[in-house]
Amino acid sequence: MTCTACQAHAQNPLSGQYHFGCLECCTRLVLSTRPNKQAAAGMLAAIDRFPQNPGRERILESVRQALTKHPSASTSAGSQSESA
Ligand SMILES: [Zn+2]
Repeated sequence: MTCTACQAHAQNPLSGQYHFGCLECCTRLVLSTRPNKQAAAGMLAAIDRFPQNPGRERILESVRQALTKHPSASTSAGSQSESA
C-alpha cells in the first residue's frame, strides 16, 4: 500500500513528501518528529484535519509497530540520539 509520496520517499528519503491520506506517509511523518512529542501531536492534529486521513488510532498503532521492528531506523536525521 503505497502512494506517489511513498514512491518518492523510496527513491529519495529526503524528498519530504507526505500524503495525509496514506497510512504509511502518516506513520513516516509521525516517526520523523521523534523524540519531539509536541511535534508529533502537531502532525497528528494536522492529519486529523485531512478528510481522508487513515485515522489516528491506526497511525499510532502503525508507529508503535514500526518502533518495535526498527527502534531507530526511521529517524534519518544524522545523529542517532538513543532514548531521551
Ligand atoms: Zn504514502
